[in-house]
Amino acid sequence: MIDVLVIGGGNAALCAALMAREAGASVLLLEAAPREWRGGNSQHTRNLRCMHDAPQDVLVDAYPEEEYWQDLLKVTGGITDEKLARLVIRASSSCRDWMRGHGVNFQPPLSGALHVARTNAFFMGGGKALVNAYYRSAEALGVQIRYNAPVDSLELADGHFVAARIGQERIEARSCVLAAGGFESNLEWMREAWGQNERGEWPADNFLIRGTRFNQGVLLKFMMQAGADIIGDPSQSHCVAIDARAPLYDGGICTRIDCVSLGVVVNRDAERFYDEGEDFWPKRYAIWGRLVAMQPGQIAYSIIDAKAVGRFMPPVFPGVRADSLAELAAKLELDPARFVQTIEDYNRACRVGSFDHTQLDDCHTEGLTPAKTHWARPIDTGPFYGYALRPGITFTYLGLKVDETAAVRFGGKPSDNLFVAGEMMAGNVLGKGYTAGVGMSIGTAFGRIAGTRAAEAARAQVKNGARREAA
Ligand SMILES: Cc1cc2nc3c(=O)[nH]c(=O)nc-3n(C[C@H](O)[C@H](O)[C@H](O)COP(=O)(O)OP(=O)(O)OC[C@H]3O[C@@H](n4cnc5c(N)ncnc54)[C@H](O)[C@@H]3O)c2cc1C
Repeated sequence: MIDVLVIGGGNAALCAALMAREAGASVLLLEAAPREWRGGNSQHTRNLRCMHDAPQDVLVDAYPEEEYWQDLLKVTGGITDEKLARLVIRASSSCRDWMRGHGVNFQPPLSGALHVARTNAFFMGGGKALVNAYYRSAEALGVQIRYNAPVDSLELADGHFVAARIGQERIEARSCVLAAGGFESNLEWMREAWGQNERGEWPADNFLIRGTRFNQGVLLKFMMQAGADIIGDPSQSHCVAIDARAPLYDGGICTRIDCVSLGVVVNRDAERFYDEGEDFWPKRYAIWGRLVAMQPGQIAYSIIDAKAVGRFMPPVFPGVRADSLAELAAKLELDPARFVQTIEDYNRACRVGSFDHTQLDDCHTEGLTPAKTHWARPIDTGPFYGYALRPGITFTYLGLKVDETAAVRFGGKPSDNLFVAGEMMAGNVLGKGYTAGVGMSIGTAFGRIAGTRAAEAARAQVKNGARREAA
């Protein structure tokens, strides 16, 4: 019988498998995806948020524990477990040498933006290279890997893991780590979680999923039905506004539209609905997914003029281009009269001071609702561009409740051989909100803990078995 069974094939699963193997356990990893789609959402990532008290290779200055904790406290509005959050934060300061040992390389951010250069270490080659490095290392260490292996249920005996099932196949192991992601790819479940709005729409019908199609939440649902302790709200997720032309799954980071703060955003009725200049875009981009999700038809349009071109990362697909505002409205299928009125009202309200996109500048609107509080300049210089936006779901927060041992719990009692890591338990640390790079910090910290604990649990079973035989 195998010692440790790891279910999932992303960062958390790979960290668990590597740690268990390093601790001497035999390990089998089951990845639902085929080999070419392996790595879940982790393949789309770019960086890891890291605590450090002094400059560390690619990280500049310091990002002490307290500051990291305060950042997390702020974005979650206090819906976080301080003990577990601090555990993740501390682990983030020391995991990179281990990661390097398994072939992961780091680089400073290409943009050179100081605030991320201080807090986040970027993976050279992105998440895809990280995942490939971990698979290579796991294979070299003798971890058995199976692709196209979606586990549909577990056999449990009073909170104790016995076996996993893939259809008719039964796979026994001495211990198990669940690292099968959230349920964001399950459109039916997303529909149920978001429900129907006052307009009779089902908002989730218009969501795009930024990552893998394989995080269907099958095991999360199974564990909920099996009575495992749960944490988090099913409607909470990381959700950004992305290019409406993105594919339903796996569009990844290149589907972002980063010109919102340079222009205005209107909904299907050609009305503005939120302050586009509230704060720097990296601090605001994660709220726009939900804002768009609340609009009729869950669609919105980011509108800029020629003055904005060259001031933001160009999206993969060019915007809809027009020489006049009325022509742009027609091309975007918006009511031209209403659209032109909205832009003219906005233009009239602009009080342009010294435009500076690197600061919270003094260009703002006056007497307009909603106001645009920074970077407000009239949209008056053709050509004009429009980008349709849709809510893009990154990952869900509903998960299994854990303590610092990563053990799955039933009625408050930790399992002796079933552990969980990554998105399946991220809700313990992230009740809501997000700060860039913390998803990988949680998965790395808890993946490593879960793998170590699972190896220990397997060893304990072997010992107990030998004792029983001797008795
Ligand atoms: C576009 C994008 C960019 C992101 N960028 C960053 C970033 O830069 N930094 C950061 O910290 N976070 C980022 N995130 C979030 C990050 O991806 C997650 O927090 C992290 O990858 C979660 O790791 P995980 O191992 O729990 O899940 P995943 O990497 O999603 O892995 C889940 C695995 O489980 C497998 N699986 C699912 N169901 C089953 C089943 N029933 N049986 C067997 N296997 C199953 C899946 O195939 C997959 O391999 C990003 C996410 C996206 C979508």
